[in-house]
Amino acid sequence: MANELILIIEDNEINRTLVRDVLQFKGYQTLESQTAEEGIRLAREQKPALILMDFHLPAMNGIEAFKALRADAATSSIPVIAVTASAMPEDRQKILAAGFDGMQTKPIHVQEFLETVERTLKKAAGAV
Ligand code: MN
Repeated sequence: MANELILIIEDNEINRTLVRDVLQFKGYQTLESQTAEEGIRLAREQKPALILMDFHLPAMNGIEAFKALRADAATSSIPVIAVTASAMPEDRQKILAAGFDGMQTKPIHVQEFLETVERTLKKAAGAV
């Protein structure tokens, strides 16, 4: 049953709404933040099962936010998928090198996106 809580950190309203609608349609619960700072606060408070992290955010970027989450014992084990519009090889390299649990490019392909979410949640649940 897909009812896990997923935190969406995304500053673009259209993208955020699309991701939220797709996840809710599948039965997931969602939380949203438009900034990395607020997202980190929500992650500490609500302990989501998964975080979807936009790469380009207003102040702190997705990689900095990811590092902050990993550095905090309260959030270090929450899987994080990077969501980026950037197909630049340099950004891809940075994301992979940072150790994200997955990467999803925008615009989102719904089926592929949901498979990535499901696979990442299963992997995290199995890795006790
Ligand atoms: Mn963005």
